[in-house]
Amino acid sequence: MSAHTLRGRFGTHCFDDPQRLLRYEIPERGAAGKALAVLVPESEDEVGAVLRACNELQQPLVISAGRTGLVEAQRPQGEAVLSLEKLKRPLAFVLSDGRSLQFDEAGDVERWRDQLLAWWLSLQASTAQQAGAPVGATITVQAGIAVDALNDVLACLGLVWPMEMGSSSAASAGGCVANASAGANAVCYGTAAHLCVAAWGFWGDGAAAGPSAAPAWDRPGPETLAIDSASVQTDWGLVGSQGVLGVITRVQLRTYPLPAQREAVLLPVADMPAAMKVFEAARQRFPGDVEEFEFIGRAAIELVREHLGAAFRWPFESEPAAPYFVLLQLKTQDADADLASQLYDFVADELQWPSEQIGYAPLPALKKLRHSITEASNARMRKLGGGRLSFDTATPVNVFGDYLATLQRELIAQWPQLEFVAFGHAGVGGAHLHLLGTREQPVTAQAAAVVARVFDITAEFGGTFSAEHGVGSKWAREFQQRAPEPVRTRLSAAKRQYDPRHILNPASFGLT
Ligand SMILES: Cc1cc2nc3c(=O)[nH]c(=O)nc-3n(C[C@H](O)[C@H](O)[C@H](O)COP(=O)(O)OP(=O)(O)OC[C@H]3O[C@@H](n4cnc5c(N)ncnc54)[C@H](O)[C@@H]3O)c2cc1C
Repeated sequence: MSAHTLRGRFGTHCFDDPQRLLRYEIPERGAAGKALAVLVPESEDEVGAVLRACNELQQPLVISAGRTGLVEAQRPQGEAVLSLEKLKRPLAFVLSDGRSLQFDEAGDVERWRDQLLAWWLSLQASTAQQAGAPVGATITVQAGIAVDALNDVLACLGLVWPMEMGSSSAASAGGCVANASAGANAVCYGTAAHLCVAAWGFWGDGAAAGPSAAPAWDRPGPETLAIDSASVQTDWGLVGSQGVLGVITRVQLRTYPLPAQREAVLLPVADMPAAMKVFEAARQRFPGDVEEFEFIGRAAIELVREHLGAAFRWPFESEPAAPYFVLLQLKTQDADADLASQLYDFVADELQWPSEQIGYAPLPALKKLRHSITEASNARMRKLGGGRLSFDTATPVNVFGDYLATLQRELIAQWPQLEFVAFGHAGVGGAHLHLLGTREQPVTAQAAAVVARVFDITAEFGGTFSAEHGVGSKWAREFQQRAPEPVRTRLSAAKRQYDPRHILNPASFGLT
């Protein structure tokens, strides 16, 4: 297929100018690829038309939205890119009693926010509607809208779609639903798949798809894997199918009232099993209100300290000599509660934590530490010049502490030259691992052996090699080698059913 044919077919909604293609050839992480052309449909129907035409032309596509994906699914390797960047507006807001607003077609975030607020105020004026954020409302949006843009619109009613990721300024709502992205809030609200009432779009063959849905979040027991993006649930349809079965063009999302208060504390812990005891106690004491439970390894803290320099704010007067820290965040809808005191009393009295080891600071200061890790790791990688292997694994919560301790011990024993940086979503058993090499001893030299060791240990603890970032092309071979046979068979069968010509993301998951 030539780009010329695609341009002839899609006119101005297709381009192949090499300068313009560049942006779509470079994934968030990993090597650059090569795009044949970029197709930019301007409506949902046009996405269906593109898919049907590409089936007819036997033209493979990779899907691109916010371009923040970390498993190289959006990297073209000669395919055309199907970009959802023009599908970025809210469509409808629906209250739990069915009253609804249709958003204007033209506009921007500010205008849609004003429209939503004016509508809400008019309802309050005409029906003596109670003040306060509406409970149980949903918002339907086009798939390409960025998470932050969506939340800018919702904030005027005191609502949020709670995806808490470092990438939310660009990551799209549809991408998050397609990838069942999790993030720091998943311990409280579930993944984006669970935060979606329904998704619509087109299967790979161009047929209309949806409504697709995952069940609402019901936090699994501590012995069950809470997040596992290596195991696509094909009965969820488009949801969580990571762009290998179809393209999501529209999602209806659950909204939540913004908490009236949030408080957090940073605690040093002797090891990860001890960290998980803090988590269990917090869940018992504040059921439903543990909004985040993140862990940060000592090496990650040191990277952030170096990276932020004078801007680094450390909430301890003296330096706790701990290998790990946990960030415990609570919420409440009760504006009159003294949440700060409740949290402090819980840590000081119930957990008997020494006061000098309670890292108390305004929430934004604590979040800055957590959200600076990736950037700090990037800077360190550039400085060391030996590349990085990054992993996104998960285990059941009840073995998570032991898992991380074993992983660190075994990796450092075998490859002492690697820097081991660990952090992540301890509340759902999710670990992000960055292993950094040096110019003298780059990671590439032992990449295959390290990957195999990390994933073997993960499997020994009943874990997954891909917790929330997906499989993409980065872990396609691992999927074929490690995913249980029923999982592979199920996905292959769905691929044959919905995308029989292998048009969509053909390198993802290594499906043939
Ligand atoms: C700094 C940083 C922090 C991050 N933190 C987290 C985190 O905490 N948790 C987490 O889960 N992820 C995290 N991510 C990863 C990323 O933000 C998510 O994977 C997100 O879902 C990608 O959305 P996107 O719109 O950028 O997709 P893109 O990168 O544009 O696309 C990647 C792939 O997603 C699929 N896809 C996207 N949109 C659709 C659609 N509409 N229909 C079907 N398939 C689609 C396709 O397979 C596509 O190739 C982080 C990324 C960065 C850079």
